[in-house]
Amino acid sequence: MTTILFAAPNKDWEEFGAPLEDAFKAEGLNANLVREADPETVEYIVYAPTGWLKDFSQFTNLKGVQSLWAGVEKIVDNPTLQVPLARMVDSGLKEGMIEYCVGHVLRYHLDMDQDVLRQDAKWEVHVPPLAKDRSVLVLGLGALGAAVSEALVALNFDVHGWSRSPKQVPGVRCYHGEDGLAEALTAGEIVVLLLPQTAETTNILSAHRISLLPRGARIINPGRGPLIDDDALLAALDSGQVVHATLDVFRIEPLPKDHPYWQHDRVTVTPHIASDTRPDTAAKLVAENIRRAESGQSMKFIVDRDVGY
Ligand code: NAP
Repeated sequence: MTTILFAAPNKDWEEFGAPLEDAFKAEGLNANLVREADPETVEYIVYAPTGWLKDFSQFTNLKGVQSLWAGVEKIVDNPTLQVPLARMVDSGLKEGMIEYCVGHVLRYHLDMDQDVLRQDAKWEVHVPPLAKDRSVLVLGLGALGAAVSEALVALNFDVHGWSRSPKQVPGVRCYHGEDGLAEALTAGEIVVLLLPQTAETTNILSAHRISLLPRGARIINPGRGPLIDDDALLAALDSGQVVHATLDVFRIEPLPKDHPYWQHDRVTVTPHIASDTRPDTAAKLVAENIRRAESGQSMKFIVDRDVGY
């Protein structure tokens, strides 16, 4: 019997417990899924950064950790974790992110706020361009960024994407590395941030890089708060370099009540809801990964601890 510790909050247990049991059975695993155990008996851990677990050194027979989250910045540098760490790549997470990003891109593209928020009896006609004439830049072309880019291509947007290593995404003009970023930014009428939080990506949208965007750019950040230099963004919003930002993630969450983003009339705050891991689909990856590890294969979507994602 394989002992698997579920180290995530109570709320997650209520959602994930039954789908995980079902998925373990479907993979033919003889699994003992527990919320507490003698640490020496634990072989795998299903982990969420919002849970209680900080010190992995007590689990002397641990073989692998599966994160329920795609973003691993809270665990990747944990020195007590010495076994493979797999991040979450889930079709439900992907679908949710596509819907959030496409929704906000269309909102900006069509200037929907102008119509929705303004009922002032003024008959002002603004015809938006077609999607083919609107450039959207997706920073990060991983599991989520590539999926969002493809959805935007399907809507006929002029899609540009940027990643660390060279990538090919059908219909997307791809750039990579530091050298590719300056050119990519010039195509950012609407910018979507889907990068992980690492030392290299912190403040990637600095004052200088924001200045390279077309004037009047819009920014959508469902990636991580530290990707943006907040002071630089606030200054760019005030100067009109950026006309609006939709922010889902922040350096401190929940976003403090007195943060300027709450007050700013050119900022939409959403409370880290862009996309959630969906228990029914995610449980399948957890089970598949543990089955793979038990049969001597490597787990899928292993985090590269050197690059931080
Ligand atoms: P992923 O598959 O690991 O993709 C990350 C992408 O970022 C890759 O294309 C990678 O380049 C690129 N990248 C990383 N460091 C870079 C750098 N220094 N320069 C240029 N590109 C760099 O991650 P994912 O599954 O798509 O998730 C992305 C992020 O979304 C997560 O890390 C998390 O922070 C966030 N997220 C947010 C929510 C929410 O609800 N708000 C939900 C899920 C995830 P390569 O392709 O060359 O490796």
